[in-house]
Amino acid sequence: MLYDALIIGGSYAGLSGAVQIARSGRPICVLDGGQPRNRFATHSHGFFGQDGQTPRAMIAQARADLAAYPNVTFIATPATQARREGDHFSITLASGDTLHAQKLLLAYGVIDLLPETPGVAERWGQTVLHCPYCHGYEVRGKRLGVLSALPHSTHQALLISDWGRVTFFLNGQPLPDATMLAKFAERGIEVEPETVVGLEGEAPGLDGVRLADGRFFPLDALFVASRIRPASDLAEQLGCASEEGPQGQLLHTDATKQTSVPGVYAAGDLTARGGNASLAAADGVWAGVSLHQSLIFGPLSKLEQVIPAPVQAAAPSSVPLRT
Ligand SMILES: Cc1cc2nc3c(=O)[nH]c(=O)nc-3n(C[C@H](O)[C@H](O)[C@H](O)COP(=O)(O)OP(=O)(O)OC[C@H]3O[C@@H](n4cnc5c(N)ncnc54)[C@H](O)[C@@H]3O)c2cc1C
Repeated sequence: MLYDALIIGGSYAGLSGAVQIARSGRPICVLDGGQPRNRFATHSHGFFGQDGQTPRAMIAQARADLAAYPNVTFIATPATQARREGDHFSITLASGDTLHAQKLLLAYGVIDLLPETPGVAERWGQTVLHCPYCHGYEVRGKRLGVLSALPHSTHQALLISDWGRVTFFLNGQPLPDATMLAKFAERGIEVEPETVVGLEGEAPGLDGVRLADGRFFPLDALFVASRIRPASDLAEQLGCASEEGPQGQLLHTDATKQTSVPGVYAAGDLTARGGNASLAAADGVWAGVSLHQSLIFGPLSKLEQVIPAPVQAAAPSSVPLRT
């Protein structure tokens, strides 16, 4: 069977894109590995109508909504190989089966690469956090730390100081420049130069961090900017171009969410438009609509001539930090 679209990744971006295409009645298939990025968090925050819901429950609801469309096939198996074969794409699954589709939507997300400091990994999403919009409210006014890990960790510290008093742990990274230190002083952020050798407390709880000189520093939450990498190399196999983002490689897409390979679309955290569940879902909607219309009109390199393009409004001059 030749599907009109095969969606790889069935979470916020993939399911949001899938439902748009599904509503055309065309045959589509969603493949999913069942590992959404926020699975480490007990609750998800800030999503329209779902604030405080568990990540798995949100995704289960979206899957149930999609299951109402008889033209949709859902397979809970990851894809392992992707290639173009003449006028369509062939995707091999971990089960060994091969599926064929006219168009692809890649929505398989990213993997967070955390600092190797002992105690970070087992607290990720609970007391070791990355996004203040997702989890800052729950720790507001508490003793907060930011572990320096990436160049934009300094911006993370400035941002998080809106939620509580912040200590910035250099942890082997260079001291911020004088301008940044002046901003830190304005925001009441203290700098701790000693290396953090471990997190303490009964995980996933946090009592504080142990420093290399033996001192114990009490904390309720530690924010860390992770590096990221794509959750799969399927885009690479297909020859899709990437771009470097502040945290790692992202898949390059045009305004229609098409990658550099015609017929291959991408959405969510895998691309520059992701970063949180709402953005990933919105991105998925846009990619789904674009993919569907390309089945009718052909490649939509000048999309604005075909459909109104709300997300193509002029980009803001300063882009908010990707959380
Ligand atoms: C700890 C933590 C907490 C967070 N909390 C919040 C929050 O409170 N609010 C918020 O808005 N955002 C939050 N986020 C961000 C949010 O998780 C992501 O922005 C969102 O999950 C991105 O959606 P996505 O669909 O692009 O990717 P994901 O949700 O990561 O989904 C990708 C899906 O693709 C699947 N997949 C991967 N490889 C393959 C393959 N080869 N074949 C088939 N399927 C594959 C995966 O198994 C997964 O199911 C949090 C992130 C983290 C790390």
